[in-house]
Amino acid sequence: MGKVRRVKHRVTLIPGDGIGPEVAQAARSVIDATRVSIEWVVRQAGQTALNEFGELMPAQTLDAIRETRVALKGPITTPVGTGFRSVNVALRQELDLFAAVRPARALPGVPIRHAHVDLVVIRENTEDLYQGIEFERGSPQAEALRQKLRVLAGYDLRADAGFTVKPISVYGTKRIVRFAFEYARTNRRRKITVGHKSNVMRYSDGLFLSTAQSYRREWDDVELEAMQIDNLTSHLASHPENFDLLLLPNLYGDILSDVCAGLVGGLGLIPGANIGWEYAVFEPVHGSAPDIAGQGLANPIAIILSGAMMLRHIGEPAAALAVEHAVDFILEEGRIRTPDLGGQATTTQVGEAIAERAQVLVAHTRP
Ligand code: NAD
Repeated sequence: MGKVRRVKHRVTLIPGDGIGPEVAQAARSVIDATRVSIEWVVRQAGQTALNEFGELMPAQTLDAIRETRVALKGPITTPVGTGFRSVNVALRQELDLFAAVRPARALPGVPIRHAHVDLVVIRENTEDLYQGIEFERGSPQAEALRQKLRVLAGYDLRADAGFTVKPISVYGTKRIVRFAFEYARTNRRRKITVGHKSNVMRYSDGLFLSTAQSYRREWDDVELEAMQIDNLTSHLASHPENFDLLLLPNLYGDILSDVCAGLVGGLGLIPGANIGWEYAVFEPVHGSAPDIAGQGLANPIAIILSGAMMLRHIGEPAAALAVEHAVDFILEEGRIRTPDLGGQATTTQVGEAIAERAQVLVAHTRP
């Protein structure tokens, strides 16, 4: 009787919208080529789910992520003006994915200005100016707030002002700081740079900074430095190779992770993850690219590298490395590329080439 191969991991796969299904299929074939035993639980979200179930994020999709704890997700089209909550925001809130992780690494054969960039941005995902506490100009709530602020803070704010509140808590900061130190240790990162503007925003950014600094003694094998966000941005643009791990509150994190994407060659190449203590969702940084959907033009590398991050997360570092090295090999060779990198290959052809290479690399590292 033949030996029955037991499934080791279960992962929810959300193909998504636009180019999502094409690139997700490529990623799945690359990951399967590493021979890590994964049962894919395929679920829908986004426009595809809206058409089928009348919901952008059906309960069965959330249930699948809760059950498997890990998901690989394609991009989702956010319908404009429908009143639906963005799928990405819903996922973040429902699963408490408080850390956004975005590595930015210079890839071989991709022409960029700074050849030695290898850094990761860890962004707090739930608080700060993005928490969504807003008061519309001229509304009764804005007027009430103006009056309160006159009493509480002594400010007479203009009647035609709108307001967005910036909460940063010790609770929210502690967990992202802890996450960043643990990430640094596990991924052999030596230095964390905290970005802040604590001289101006003493009680929000100041709290973020002092909370991070209070962890310094507990994790003394990782260096912690602090930089004003404007100074940090300027250094990042001129000497990105000097940074290792950036730890940032939500808004700065959003902006600087896009700066980092630009530094290493653009959207089609950048992986990402949203992670909490219980669940993790891995996804490319790019959107659903409706302009090129269904034509085989999309670059699958961003989601393939997200898949490598996912493999590392589920405890398969050798397979993760094989996928990353396979991507490096195909890019360096330069023969099989999608049009965004100046080539003529299709999404499937790039996926197949990387899968073949990953299979060879894994065979060499297995006994
Ligand atoms: P986009 O990232 O989809 O596209 C921007 C440009 O980059 C387009 O010209 C596109 O063709 C190109 N591009 C993107 N990914 C590519 C790839 N893998 N290969 C080659 N070229 C690629 O951004 P957008 O046009 O602003 O947004 C389109 C939709 O995606 C919107 O509905 C938006 O809300 C959504 N979106 C979703 C996510 C997500 O699900 N995480 C992220 C960003 C945007």
